[in-house]
Amino acid sequence: MSKKYHTIVIGGGCLGVACALSVQRKLGNKPGKVAILEKKVLGAGLSSRHSAIVRSANASPMAARMAKLSTQYWKNLKPIWGVEIPYEQSGAIWIADKNDEKAAKSWRSLELSMQKEGIDFAMISHKDVQDLSHQGLKTLPDELYYYEPEVLQLDSPQILNAMQTAVKKNHIDVFEHCEVIDFQHDTQHGIKTIASSQGQFFAENVVNASGAWSSELFAGMGLTIPVALQPVYVANFLVSASDIPESLPIIADFVNQAYFRRWRGSILHMHQPRRRQSKDIASSFSRASMNPEGANVIYDALSFNVHHQQLEDYLGKVTSRFPKIGHPVYAGGYHSFFDITPDLKFILGLDTQINNLYHCLGAGQALKYAPILGELIADLILEQPTTSASINLQEFSISRFASKDFADYWRTESAQQNAL
Ligand SMILES: Cc1cc2nc3c(=O)[nH]c(=O)nc-3n(C[C@H](O)[C@H](O)[C@H](O)COP(=O)(O)OP(=O)(O)OC[C@H]3O[C@@H](n4cnc5c(N)ncnc54)[C@H](O)[C@@H]3O)c2cc1C
Repeated sequence: MSKKYHTIVIGGGCLGVACALSVQRKLGNKPGKVAILEKKVLGAGLSSRHSAIVRSANASPMAARMAKLSTQYWKNLKPIWGVEIPYEQSGAIWIADKNDEKAAKSWRSLELSMQKEGIDFAMISHKDVQDLSHQGLKTLPDELYYYEPEVLQLDSPQILNAMQTAVKKNHIDVFEHCEVIDFQHDTQHGIKTIASSQGQFFAENVVNASGAWSSELFAGMGLTIPVALQPVYVANFLVSASDIPESLPIIADFVNQAYFRRWRGSILHMHQPRRRQSKDIASSFSRASMNPEGANVIYDALSFNVHHQQLEDYLGKVTSRFPKIGHPVYAGGYHSFFDITPDLKFILGLDTQINNLYHCLGAGQALKYAPILGELIADLILEQPTTSASINLQEFSISRFASKDFADYWRTESAQQNAL
């Protein structure tokens, strides 16, 4: 088999698969093929440890605009991926602290900016929350509630299966157990050769979709790709349908720092959101430099362990928000990691030093964006007019890190502003 490709995608997570599918489809009858090089199996990284929620509200209006388009793709994937994935439109309720004036103000301005983007995200009353949760959710006078009805809930194993089917259907060459080790490059041609555990590969274009592994993988080329891991514990509890209705919207509880959702029938699934405080982001980056395992910690079976204290903490959050449940039955949990950047925004588009290298990294919130990011990266590679003329990727370019010391991000409020 020839190992010369039009485009090689490094990393077979949701973003890598989305990029490969879009480039291959947009190539049409033009010569050239697309390959994915994945060091384990498709979806082995963070793409198997997420909650499969697709929503649009985002503090960055450009990210929200992309998410809105992406939501439409998820609802009708067949034209772009050749497969369909079932979804439920569960909607989401956001809970904010009314007494935190600064936060309340930013939620109100978020509502306005989402409405400008045509995204249905609006404040609702306590009674609305009670009705939507069938009286299952405890509401408090000093809380504010927002509702986003278009939010979708998918199922992670169904997404992984669809990724496998889609790459086959679209004739993408997938090399699993194929670890990219090194690159040969020069300033004129960019990356000329990709050295892997299965020999050398050649490609006109290279997409970096290796997520949390990016820093380590490209350090040898002198590229700085700032991605670190922020640990998060995920827990499932068994609940009865009479305690919490199956139709419960996703609950994004920013008072208790917890996301909750009904999952696969009898489960209440929960985890903490990404931490936005500058000091938390800074410590994730500092921890990265002390972690000899690097991003491989994601594959480590020991990272699935549960700590008693975390479980107690989560139980407290469940019982205070869902009083009817009482003390719920623990039904398993695991650690996962958000693949964060210093400002919690994506890294997207052409590299500033290597002229055939494109980045597609998700900053801990990528699944929902996978179809639109695949389309946009394919447009860049094929130099086509963009999928949507209203999208500008400049805000997410890796060039933003060149002129700024990372610590500057942690001294400013930039990540906190990206509140969702
Ligand atoms: C608890 C939790 C819940 C989440 N819930 C949601 C959600 O509801 N909605 C949402 O949109 N997002 C969610 N996310 C975020 C989402 O999981 C990630 O942003 C997304 O999965 C990242 O996808 P990716 O393709 O960029 O990375 P990955 O899936 O990590 O893929 C990177 C791939 O690169 C491969 N690789 C690495 N190095 C090499 C190499 N040298 N050679 C070859 N291959 C290599 C890895 O094996 C891996 O498969 C959640 C995250 C967490 C932690």
